[in-house]
Amino acid sequence: MDKNKTIGVEIDGARYEIPDYTPERLPLSQAINVFEDNIMDIKEACQLNILHIMRDNPKIVPSGDENVDSIYEGLREIKIKTGVEGYQKTLKRIKSRDDARRNPHRSRITDEMIQTAREYPIADMYDGHLKGGEDRRQFGLCPFHSERSSSFCIHPDNRWSCFGSCNEHGDSISFFIKLHGLTGPEAFIQAVKALQ
Ligand SMILES: [Zn+2]
Repeated sequence: MDKNKTIGVEIDGARYEIPDYTPERLPLSQAINVFEDNIMDIKEACQLNILHIMRDNPKIVPSGDENVDSIYEGLREIKIKTGVEGYQKTLKRIKSRDDARRNPHRSRITDEMIQTAREYPIADMYDGHLKGGEDRRQFGLCPFHSERSSSFCIHPDNRWSCFGSCNEHGDSISFFIKLHGLTGPEAFIQAVKALQ
């Protein structure tokens, strides 16, 4: 295709020279590789396209002739299936990207393992005395900084926070990592495996 060739067009009485080619349209399946920040829009566009295909191929009112109806129904199913296929594939790829982002270590630890580790009671790892406070919160001395009054708190949803000089918070996984001084990219995986 010669992209330097132009054609003259007239718009509202004025004449313009425009390139004589139609820009290729970018399919949604490829758009997810280009527009990383717009994944949610692409997802919505796929879902909308699927809905439109469904809308454009409605069920018909039975004609009374079973053969005609079944042929129509068969065609309708094929049209919908071939129409939505590409969008469904794109949605699947978006989902697996989301999963990979949520759990970048998927090949080594499962989502279930992470969930199990998050449910491991922080109180069971805590070495020391805990006092029950309001809202089922428990308070004790912070294991991460030296202090005389309790500013470390374990919340009912099994998250921890330190209102003292740490001023940090997290879940059972980050508690384990901090407690054992784990560092580096393996720390998260080690902690999750330890908390099974
Ligand atoms: Zn602290």
